[in-house]
Amino acid sequence: MSTTCDDGACEKRRDLFDAVRKATHRDASTTRTNADDANADQGAGTGTAAPLDVDELGRASWALMHTIAAYYPQKPTHAQRVQARRFFDALGDLYPCATCRADLRADVDAHPPRCESREALAKWVCERHNVVNEKLGKAKMSCAIDALDARWRRAKTTEGREETEAL
Ligand code: FAD
Repeated sequence: MSTTCDDGACEKRRDLFDAVRKATHRDASTTRTNADDANADQGAGTGTAAPLDVDELGRASWALMHTIAAYYPQKPTHAQRVQARRFFDALGDLYPCATCRADLRADVDAHPPRCESREALAKWVCERHNVVNEKLGKAKMSCAIDALDARWRRAKTTEGREETEAL
């Protein structure tokens, strides 16, 4: 992560830890030790009270977005479409990492949420995620609905009913 983190959860936990170490041990060596790394990792993904860093926030946010889309109705009502559109649109203004948010705002403006069906929304979220993956040099994931369902949606019941039918 760059050192020009502007606001919000835009740094990695180890960057934050290093900044605190340097601020509180100005006369000591700034070489990070294994013990420092262990301290920096405390709370990461363990459910303790440490604030999220950019990666933890990202994983949690993608999980919420993909899961919302995975269980979105096949035939949403007008009200559901409006709410879904508002939810994803609002992230472009509220996502609490300024550098991430600016790119998301531009991407959502160029590619507005497709809220007409579960499949359309799941693919739309996948495509937004792949834009970020590409920016970060990560592998893209297939946006085929079967692949998305395998990752983000529980299997059908033994009776073969779709769980979203009740939504
Ligand atoms: P993540 O990318 O968080 O993915 C979590 C899981 O989702 C993966 O393990 C995989 O199973 C699945 N997955 C991956 N790709 C897809 C896909 N296309 N469709 C469906 N499922 C998929 N970090 C930065 O450093 N800089 C940024 O500018 C930045 N911008 C972000 C913008 C947004 C809107 C969000 C939500 C996050 C952003 N992040 C950013 C965080 C970044 O995307 C990752 O969440 C973070 O780097 C952790 O990555 P990860 O490898 O653990 O997996």
